[in-house]
Amino acid sequence: MAGIYIHVPFCKQACHYCDFHFSTSVKKKPEMVEAICKELLLRKEEIKNEVETIYLGGGTPSLLSAEELAQIFQVINENYSITTDAEITLEANPDDLAEEKIKMLSASPVNRLSIGVQSFFEEDLRLMNRAHHAEEALESIKLAKQYFKNISIDLIYGIPGMSNERWKENLKIALDLGVPHISSYALTVEPKTALKSMIEKGKVAPVEEELAKEQYEILIETLSAAGFDNYEFSNFGKPAFFSRNNTAYWFGKAYLGIGPSAHSFDGFKRKWNISNNTLYIKALQKGEIPAEVEKLSISDRYNELVMTRLRTKWGIAVDEVERSFGRKFKDYLLREATKLVESGMLEWNDNRLQVSKKGKFLSDGIAADLFWVEE
Ligand code: SF4
Repeated sequence: MAGIYIHVPFCKQACHYCDFHFSTSVKKKPEMVEAICKELLLRKEEIKNEVETIYLGGGTPSLLSAEELAQIFQVINENYSITTDAEITLEANPDDLAEEKIKMLSASPVNRLSIGVQSFFEEDLRLMNRAHHAEEALESIKLAKQYFKNISIDLIYGIPGMSNERWKENLKIALDLGVPHISSYALTVEPKTALKSMIEKGKVAPVEEELAKEQYEILIETLSAAGFDNYEFSNFGKPAFFSRNNTAYWFGKAYLGIGPSAHSFDGFKRKWNISNNTLYIKALQKGEIPAEVEKLSISDRYNELVMTRLRTKWGIAVDEVERSFGRKFKDYLLREATKLVESGMLEWNDNRLQVSKKGKFLSDGIAADLFWVEE
């Protein structure tokens, strides 16, 4: 089984915290869609198996028109074998989700919406420079629910000025709306973002790690009590609503990344396309794929498995480590894990190594302690 990821690199305006690849000028959108279709065509041989997930991410894929979406799905249908029950997700921003648009999307192959809400409060949305307003966040979800069963929303915690009370209220609103999946991330201050410079100039209060940790705990507690399974560090789903796209990624399945800055993985190599819309379009017009490739060593692959699996509820299956990487890596993992188990950060469950409740917020650091470091 395999997945296709398509990066749609346009946004109405730049969110202050964002370091993804996108342009706020949509002038080149038609040429970009052409180039994406061409890349899909040129790389079809790279996917040998049936495709079970398609994910349109970005940027803002909800900026695509009905015709542009149809153009992309036509190339996919004519050149790839898609399972009948494939999960087809489109990331959408609330300000794009008027009823006509949602109707159009529900008539397209898209069967899952991932809505970039981030917060239901105007103060937070303005601080982050989101293009939508609090009212639109509410309305878009109410409308989307009339046409889609499978809806996820994104929420951000740790926003400067957002109290625990306001965070609890955000979660309450999400629960009252009845969405079956929530992805929630701590606000991170990335280099070269507007947020970073605003904090440096004292215009915005710094992000407090301790507050983010408290809000993460509130998140887990509130959503668990409401019947959500915290199946990955940042992802919470009701049964049968886990993201199949994300789960496939954490389990190392192959995926084809199409569009500028998109990453691909075939189990052994990573490829990433150029992060420049003009150069990407020009290359595809000449029939070239503007990508760099990195072959992963066995220790890179082991480290990636440790990193991604420890963030999931399934943890690291020791048998799988031995099967995929050999006895040497399994013994290394067992040895390095001993101290972390003794300190209560990791625990054993059915021959799987999992992060304990105590270690949860620190799972990336714990993973780093288990990494194989080449001499
Ligand atoms: S809409 Fe998404 S991709 Fe676009 S700037 Fe905001 S966070 Fe970044």
